Amino acid sequence: MPWNDKFECMPVEELNKFQLKKLKETVAWVCERVPFYKQKLKKLGVTADSIKTLADASKLPFTVKNDLRDNYPFGLCAVPLKEVMRVHASSGTTGKPITGPYTIEDLEQWAECMARNLWSAGVRKGDIAQNAYGYGLFTGGLGFHQGANLLGCTVIPTSSGLTERQVMLMKDLGTTVLFSTPSYALTIAEQAEAMKIDFKKLPLRVGVFGAEPWTVAMRKEIEERLGIKAMEAFGLTELGGPGTAFDCEAQDGLHINEDHFLAEVVDPATLEPLPIGEQGELVLTSLQRRAMPMLRYRTKDITKLRREKCSCGRTLIKMNKITGRSDDMLIISGVNVFPSQIESLLLDIEEVEPQYMLIVRKKGYLDQLIVKVEAKKEAYEAGPQKRKDVENKIVKHIKSIMGVTVDVNLLEPKLLTRSEGKAKRVIDERPKN
Ligand code: AMP
Ligand code: ZN
Repeated sequence: MPWNDKFECMPVEELNKFQLKKLKETVAWVCERVPFYKQKLKKLGVTADSIKTLADASKLPFTVKNDLRDNYPFGLCAVPLKEVMRVHASSGTTGKPITGPYTIEDLEQWAECMARNLWSAGVRKGDIAQNAYGYGLFTGGLGFHQGANLLGCTVIPTSSGLTERQVMLMKDLGTTVLFSTPSYALTIAEQAEAMKIDFKKLPLRVGVFGAEPWTVAMRKEIEERLGIKAMEAFGLTELGGPGTAFDCEAQDGLHINEDHFLAEVVDPATLEPLPIGEQGELVLTSLQRRAMPMLRYRTKDITKLRREKCSCGRTLIKMNKITGRSDDMLIISGVNVFPSQIESLLLDIEEVEPQYMLIVRKKGYLDQLIVKVEAKKEAYEAGPQKRKDVENKIVKHIKSIMGVTVDVNLLEPKLLTRSEGKAKRVIDERPKN
């Protein structure tokens, strides 16, 4: 049984009716209170009354990250500042961050969405949840914290970092649930291995991971190394943080909290809406937020939507795991390359660790992709010939699956800086323009 079966299992037709009502209310709300939207809607000749069906959402203007930057800090805020109970922030496309203000209702909705997420992952009252997402402006820390509180769990707000202490607390306090980015979960696993602590002997049983792309192969790796079930959370600051979508026992796609978010997928080049089932950029409209509602926010995240019966009983639409962003897609000699694709191919190679870095450079007129990946200790110590063989094996594997030739640099174990939050996997050294 889900946390909120009324909304999570609502018949689709009824859910769509509810969404339409909330969409109209949101359009009226921002039209009245946010000059940015008022002008855009006026220019397009759209009012709340023009929205007769959910498909009419395509009449609404898009919002992009730069709109938040240009209206920094509170230009898009729809309520007086005295109604704002909290402000989070995330990095923008340039210097200034983008802000996310919340009213008391927004905070309550957020906790509800996160409670659904954690409940679906199997977290319950009585669990001891160690929250290794960063606390502070980042939405991860407090987002998970509030959701776990609503379920009645014991929360240990470790925040990210101080990995040795994380492992010690996990052992001493009997942590049963871990919240962190997937890359940090692996950093923790590595630290525990160095401290000769066997996770499989600890009470830890489930982790809820998100905030950055990770592959199914990476999930399996985490499940094995930590001896847990690895579940997922998805969200973004612009839409209020984690809690937008979450996976269920089927571990096959993420359910979107549709009573709070209207999801569309558009072609990132033409911005035309795509039919359900086609891959493109995820666009989200908030349906109940008060302080900073978003109309058709372009997430740049690439996915596809699926409306199908799920074994968990939820009727909420599903989105596929995010495979990359429309803006981090690399084009190497004409081939589209997502870092997550490379990651899953690296995980096929038994001699390497899941710690890697991609560097993109210009070589003459061509793009060159350098894959730096750490070797496992035994492979590294087997000598230069073995290392060369492993490098060649990776080059061949990537070429055969993706059709792109990369340069591989096998590194000494533990050479790359470990992530404590979102891992930075790509360094693009190509000159801009
Ligand atoms: P931020 O607002 O700084 O938390 O960043 C939000 C972005 O993080 C999203 O637009 C996604 O690109 C990424 N993200 C969050 N959760 C996930 C997830 N579960 N899988 C893949 N990417 C994610
Ligand atoms: Zn499900």
